Amino acid sequence: MSQSPVIEIRNLHKSYGPLEVLRGVDITAPQGHVVAMIGSSGSGKSTLLRCCNLLEDSQQGDVIFCGEPVRWRGTGMGRHPADRAQVTRIRTNLAMVFQSFNLWSHMTVLQNVMEAPVTVLKRDPQEVEAAARAYLAKVGIADKADAWPAQLSGGQQQRAAIARALCMEPKALLFDEPTSALDPELEQEVVRVIKALAEEGRTMIIVTHDMKLAADVAHHVVFLHQGRIEEEGPPERLFGDPQSERLRGFLSHAQ
Ligand code: ADP
Ligand code: MG
Repeated sequence: MSQSPVIEIRNLHKSYGPLEVLRGVDITAPQGHVVAMIGSSGSGKSTLLRCCNLLEDSQQGDVIFCGEPVRWRGTGMGRHPADRAQVTRIRTNLAMVFQSFNLWSHMTVLQNVMEAPVTVLKRDPQEVEAAARAYLAKVGIADKADAWPAQLSGGQQQRAAIARALCMEPKALLFDEPTSALDPELEQEVVRVIKALAEEGRTMIIVTHDMKLAADVAHHVVFLHQGRIEEEGPPERLFGDPQSERLRGFLSHAQ
């Protein structure tokens, strides 16, 4: 029997008031696959990512986590997830990494990585500390465990944020432009970590402006345009032989 995708979105519609931001989007992240999402600013990439882990409500369509459809209460504008336990299960299993790192400035790097597993998942602090140190080593900043976020470079802060996401032992990682806030030389140290995660078979959805990263790590690339999927496919096809005029235009301006 084939395994359910970790995340499946079907015909998702999302508006902010009168503004229709997602207009019937489908996206599937099977176990062990990397999906890259590309598109101009304002096309709805961040909104779609936030809909995956229910940080945003939506008006219509399905969000399915490991074969388990989100149950909604109400309809249309009044629709909300009906089951708090389900929301927590999904949110803790889809760890998000943001463009702006979002580390807690009043906690050390180690405390940042340990916080949610200890307070949200109620795991044993000693075990979490061992895991946290191992993840910091994995992203190459074991020596920064006791530093404050402000003492780290942007690339180190983003790697700390990735270690924090990994320490939740999530089923998938969601990246929202993880390298956009970084200088080019620091970008590469984060790219290396993301590539290593892809190689070990992590399920990921990565919103990125970095077409080389998308081409290198993604199994499937989705090009979003004004809240719809304009074109999608394997990276070789999408980048090598783009069909839509809009994608061709977008790619000619990227990089
Ligand atoms: P992207 O990540 O592709 O740049 P976003 O998902 O951030 O795009 O935004 C898509 C559209 O939704 C934009 O027009 C943006 O202005 C609008 N938008 C995003 N968040 C909000 C919000 N909280 N309230 C109102 N409009 C929003
Ligand atoms: Mg965005």
